Amino acid sequence: MLANLARAALDLVLPPLCACCDAPVAAPGQLCAACFMQCSFISDPVCRTCGLPFPTREEAGMLRLCQNCMRAKPAWHQARAALLYDDAAKKLILPLKHADRAENIFVLALHMHRAGAALLARAECLVPVPLHRRRLLQRRYNQAALLAHAIGRRAGINVVADALERRRPTASLGGLTAAERRDVLSGAIFVRQRRRAGIAGRRVLLIDDVLTSGATAAACAAALLDAGAANVDVLVASRVPAPRHGEEGRGNAALKTESVSDDADD
Ligand SMILES: [Zn+2]
Ligand SMILES: [Zn+2]
Repeated sequence: MLANLARAALDLVLPPLCACCDAPVAAPGQLCAACFMQCSFISDPVCRTCGLPFPTREEAGMLRLCQNCMRAKPAWHQARAALLYDDAAKKLILPLKHADRAENIFVLALHMHRAGAALLARAECLVPVPLHRRRLLQRRYNQAALLAHAIGRRAGINVVADALERRRPTASLGGLTAAERRDVLSGAIFVRQRRRAGIAGRRVLLIDDVLTSGATAAACAAALLDAGAANVDVLVASRVPAPRHGEEGRGNAALKTESVSDDADD
């Protein structure tokens, strides 16, 4: 409360700054025009299941699902992301992991609300992807939970911040293939016993900052469905463009070199 008042007082004195580059902007939580132009906002047409943008309307009209989703349907029902995970998105998302950047949360929540409107319309509760307790102590907060609370406030949806628990710390998944990520994560994420009754029969929207291989989201969705959730959708701030058919695995440079991701250090 005091911190909010102090911040409001500061906002009166200092001009609000762009969440990406610190250029002055008209209102808190805005991006400057230059940064806005650099961001790759995802819009239709996208894969119905995972939200991956299609390169052309023709391809979207023919397929509706991307090649990865046609090959193997994910555990969750539908996923949407606000931004492609590129250099501009990293400028917004990386500071969340290391410092208090409330304005970045605000910007990301705004665009997640837009990208996930259909998912939010049917969601009965929001659940953030969990951090392991040790990681939470190091970082002091879970960036996925901050996003969930910001979106919950905007959309008027209840947030169950502690529904999921990560019982085993998982080492960085950055250099692993999709199959290796699944192995590492299996059995690591659970719905807390005292939250199971609240999840059973509900339509849950899982919230995270970055979707990379989708292995973490899939492990969370499997745990929520196991606890009786009626439906699990996924809304993330940003997603790594998925590997094309046949490229998933060791040959995919984007996944192999990605050190910060939904999975990478959580
Ligand atoms: Zn800027
Ligand atoms: Zn897809």
